[in-house]
Amino acid sequence: MEILSENRKGSWILVSNIFMNVEKVQQSIRQAALRAGRDPHAVTLIAVSKTRTVEEIEAALAAGITHLGENRVQEMAQKVGPLEGRGATWHLIGSLQTNKVKQALEMANLIHGLDRDSLLDELIRQAERRGRTCDALVQVNVSGEESKHGISPGSLLPFLRRISQQQWVRVRGLMTMAPLSENPEDARPHFRRLRELADEARELALPNVCMEHLSMGMSGDYEVAVEEGATFVRVGTAIFGERA
Ligand SMILES: *Cc1c(COP(=O)(O)O)cnc(C)c1O
Repeated sequence: MEILSENRKGSWILVSNIFMNVEKVQQSIRQAALRAGRDPHAVTLIAVSKTRTVEEIEAALAAGITHLGENRVQEMAQKVGPLEGRGATWHLIGSLQTNKVKQALEMANLIHGLDRDSLLDELIRQAERRGRTCDALVQVNVSGEESKHGISPGSLLPFLRRISQQQWVRVRGLMTMAPLSENPEDARPHFRRLRELADEARELALPNVCMEHLSMGMSGDYEVAVEEGATFVRVGTAIFGERA
């Protein structure tokens, strides 16, 4: 009889928990999509791996995760290397400082937090230097909370018009965060508002601006987000457990 060391046993439990959680979240996404009459394949689950180890992320990849989200460039840099060649798509989901843009563009496939002119300018500058266009989502502060990043809904269309006047940064959609709440239903009006803003933006048919993606919904409210049209949900805790 083979007896696992405490260490091996611990990591086996970790891996099997992550497996079960990924399956559970995927199932809930499917059900929420079907409730709303949407195609479940139109929703991509981003596993938010901030504060998690490479070992935990590998368990998520083995469970079928293909999209990973980090909110800090520095932390992303520590993980992209060891996980190179695993086919993961990396999302930078947090607010981005202009002095980190160069490094961010080397690693992230999609920047979720484009929310101001100075960041746009630096993204354009660095994308042009690289000779490669950069894909981004414009973050909107739908709830108007002062603590939240994001452009105000009223400034969105002028910002998108400005973006449409250049070629290096392409907007692929919008991103938002709902206020923290125990009740997922509290998030619904904010998610709905983001979808309406995307509809308004789509009507302008601006060059370099398309509205194919809505990045909204976290562990506490991703099912509501899917019902309201999310194409990306960003889920950490429900996959990896509580953060320390
Ligand atoms: C941490 C984080 C998430 C995931 O939060 P959970 O509640 O752990 O699912 C999603 N989006 C952003 C921007 C985050 O920083």
